[in-house]
Order: sequence, then structure tokens, then C-alpha cells
Amino acid sequence: MTQQLLLVNFHYVREPKAHTYPGIHPISPDAFAQQIKGLAAQFHIADPEEVEAFVLNGRELPRDSVLITFDDGLVDHAESTRDILDPMGVKAVFFVCSRPLTEERAVSVHKIHWLRATSEPAQFRVDLLAALPLEWRERELSDSERRSAARTYIYDQPEDGEIKYLINFILPEDIVDQVTSAMLARAGVSEADFCRRTYMGADTLRKLAAAGHRVEAHTHDHRAVTRLGSDEDTSIALNVRTLAQTTGRRPTWISYPYGRDWALPTDPAAFCRRHGFKVGVALEGTFVTPEHTPYALDRINTNEVERVVSERSVAVG
Ligand SMILES: [Zn+2]
Repeated sequence: MTQQLLLVNFHYVREPKAHTYPGIHPISPDAFAQQIKGLAAQFHIADPEEVEAFVLNGRELPRDSVLITFDDGLVDHAESTRDILDPMGVKAVFFVCSRPLTEERAVSVHKIHWLRATSEPAQFRVDLLAALPLEWRERELSDSERRSAARTYIYDQPEDGEIKYLINFILPEDIVDQVTSAMLARAGVSEADFCRRTYMGADTLRKLAAAGHRVEAHTHDHRAVTRLGSDEDTSIALNVRTLAQTTGRRPTWISYPYGRDWALPTDPAAFCRRHGFKVGVALEGTFVTPEHTPYALDRINTNEVERVVSERSVAVG
């Protein structure tokens, strides 16, 4: 039977009770430990070099395997690695944005997560609208946009779904960036402090790389690569250069921010060749087999592991 490789991704790994309101949907450190041990009992936990040999050269893995990945360079990941992965000898891949390192400016999605997790939903809505430039404050959603919002955010109250829709699909990214920074400032949080609390610093990244983990690209400021436009070259080059200077090794993999089909380059192979990446990683699909293109590897989220692994058990019998 064809060998299978499962890439698993983690974002926040922290106690869910660390914040008052939903907004950050973490896996707890205990659940993380359990999931890694569960995976290690059923799969070979591959290191990044084995995965490269498998996807680039078709070299066999010892058996069906899992690769552990982390997106966004969060401080959580250093703790998870120290407490769980390092004692098990697991080597992981960390996809890191560079703007927090070079400018002490956070990525919009993390500002939004934090603001939502620390303010009551109605208050978040009021604060966001108040911080918007006038022309956007008065922007009403059309009926079809409201219907799209309801379809996209099925778990939210309509007003909350609509505000998410406004942020993610209607407002220009630079406006979201400015507004969320203004909201942080209004909450009395300096963005530099926010970055120190949220992201791994240069020292931590250097140590991860020195310990045999991989620090790889995730764009400078977490914009979808499909939305970089004429900034594509500078965003990728700045990300690559910053991480290379930080760790002493040039990144050769990229995880496309958001990772869904709309956020993948139209031609991932051309994109990777243009920017000197050997491997590109998405966030959709399930297992990777040797025929898979290395430029948009399938990958699943931690919350999909149970379903995907149990479906495989059924298939394997
Ligand atoms: Zn990300």
C-alpha cells in the first residue's frame, strides 16, 4: 500500500480559560500532549528532512508518518516544544511571519483574536465601528453580503458574523491593520508589548533552529499570497531575509497564510520556484502521498486529527 504522510498544524496551544471571551480557539497544553502521544503511538513522527526526501525524491518513510507543524510563530509553540516535543525527540516545522520581529508590529489576525477574546462581543462591534474611518463606518452590508456572512459564520450570532465578514471580506487589509492597532492602543496595550507576549523572539527562534527544528516562511505580515499584488516580491524577500538572519539558515519551505484554496498561488510550483522554496504547505485536504505536488502539500488542523485518523483506520481495516 502507498505510504501516507499526514501534516498536522497547530496555532494557539494554551489554556482556553486564559481569556474571558471566545475569539482564540486554543488546544490546551494537556490536549496537545495527548494528541502528540496518540499520533506517536500510531504513526512514525517524521522529521522535516525525512519529509523532504519523501515529497521531493519519493524516498520511503519507515511507515505511515506524521509531521508536526506550527503556524504564526506564537510564544505558545516554544512552550509546547520544550515541554512535549523535545523530551520525545520530535522535530517540528515553525512557519513564522517577520513583521513582529522587524517592526514590533503584530499581525492583524492576532490583534483581532485578542480583541475579541478580551471584550464582550457587542462591545467589540461598537469599538471596531468607532475606530473605522467614516466612509467605512457607514458601509452597510447588502442583502447578498448578509446572506454570505450567515453562510460563512454559521456558529455566530448574525451581528457577530456580519462584523467578521466585514473584517475578512470587505475592509481593505491596511484599514483592518490600522483599526486593530488603534483598538489595542485604546485598550492601553502597546503593540511592542503585545508582540513580546504573543510571538517568539529572535533568540527563541535561533534556539529552535539550533536544536534541529525548522524555522520556515509564512510571509512578512500574514497577508494571503493571493492578495500581495505588487508587494509579493518584497513581502516574501523580507520574510526570507529576516528569518535567514535570525537563524543563520535560509527558509526553503513556505506555509501559505490561511492555507485554503482562495489563499493558494494560482501556480504553486511557479510561485515556489520564483521565491526559492522547495516545499509549499496548504491547510486543506488530508494525506500526502509521493505523487503529491511538493508545492501545495495537504495539511490538517489539530481539530481534524481525530476524524482523519479514524477514517484512515476504517480504510486500512
Ligand atoms: Zn498563519
